[in-house]
Amino acid sequence: MKTPDPIESLADLRHEFGEHGGVNMSVETSTTFTVMAADTLPEIFQGLRGPASGGCYLYGRHFNPTVYVLGRQMAAIEGTEAAYCTASGMSAISSVLLQLAGHGAHIVAGNTIYGGTFALLKEYFPAKVGLKTTFVDVSNIAAVEAAFTDRTKVLFIETMANPLLTVADIPTLAAIAHAKGAKLVVDNTFCPMVVSPIQHGADVVVHSLTKFINGASDYIAGAICGTAEFITSLMDVHQGTLMLLGPTMDPQAAYAISMRLPHLGIRMVEHSRRAKVFAERLAESKVPVTYPGLPSHPQHDLLKRIMNPDYGYGGILCIDLGTKLRANEFMEILQNKDRFGFMAVSLGYFDTLMSCSASSTSSEMSPEDLEEAGIQPGLVRMSIGYTGTVEQRWEQLHSALEILNLV
Ligand code: PLP
Repeated sequence: MKTPDPIESLADLRHEFGEHGGVNMSVETSTTFTVMAADTLPEIFQGLRGPASGGCYLYGRHFNPTVYVLGRQMAAIEGTEAAYCTASGMSAISSVLLQLAGHGAHIVAGNTIYGGTFALLKEYFPAKVGLKTTFVDVSNIAAVEAAFTDRTKVLFIETMANPLLTVADIPTLAAIAHAKGAKLVVDNTFCPMVVSPIQHGADVVVHSLTKFINGASDYIAGAICGTAEFITSLMDVHQGTLMLLGPTMDPQAAYAISMRLPHLGIRMVEHSRRAKVFAERLAESKVPVTYPGLPSHPQHDLLKRIMNPDYGYGGILCIDLGTKLRANEFMEILQNKDRFGFMAVSLGYFDTLMSCSASSTSSEMSPEDLEEAGIQPGLVRMSIGYTGTVEQRWEQLHSALEILNLV
């Protein structure tokens, strides 16, 4: 199957003009909308009449026009019928999972997912809503199949699992989920443009827009991409998790993020290009580096099969410094001596962000869970930025490794 170019799909999208014909869309800040004919209100309320069918927008927590535009752009990027945006990546994930799997149901999830999602599934859901999860190594297909029960409603994975960059075999996992009557939900936060999970059989794609898609680390935001029926169900006034739990995106945030989408592709190309140069040089210098663009990565060939052409292998790499102490020393040199990047959680920023996963973004996991998932105490995750020149940044990185006698 030919994978559509996400940038082309985005360009195909009907342009949203501003209120006065401006090249940028206007921001709609109204929280409520005027109904012109009183007898249309019941149908508007039931979702039977919208702005395109003789009705109007209803209320800002339901659909807001500016947030809706960003949703349509996200749908174009992921190749889905529809999408809607939320106040955070976590609210996108929790809303989707609660919509698809309620009390008494069961989820199968990857065991190296983002720590917040791990805690949501392992601790919060069982305690608050009686929804249980079995965690598995998603690269072990037999283990994934064996984890399903007759209550399993969702298989939840990350395209490139956090932080070890294990690439999921989305086509095979989609086939397993569907054969068992479950939906495949994919968190594609690490790989916008790089992989389009829907093209490989996923049912729903979620994003933390806080990361690469936004690119400036100034908004917390999320997105849910899926069928029009699923997105509409999230807004149902009786059973919709977005409508009733209310993780609503601010229209100003939707506007700001929308303005960064046209250069997302260019940014991903550059994040990926630099991460690959550094990973190759680190590997040549015998530094333990994990990067899916290296032929030595266990899922390098798999990623080559499922990735879109032209956006590279992603902007994240990991270096194993052996111990937490050395990992901390390494990051301190890089930040405080040379300004190579920032010691900060998160990813997808224009500057490099570095964190020691076991003691930060994966710290919700117990020592046993960390060991089982293969997350070493000295593992430093680096989201490679694109400021400065490649050679300036390489010199800084190399000099930090020299100071620690690693090269
Ligand atoms: N998914 C992944 C892969 C993440 O790395 C994160 C945050 O780090 C999230 C989801 C949560 O997103 P947010 O912080 O926007 O709620």
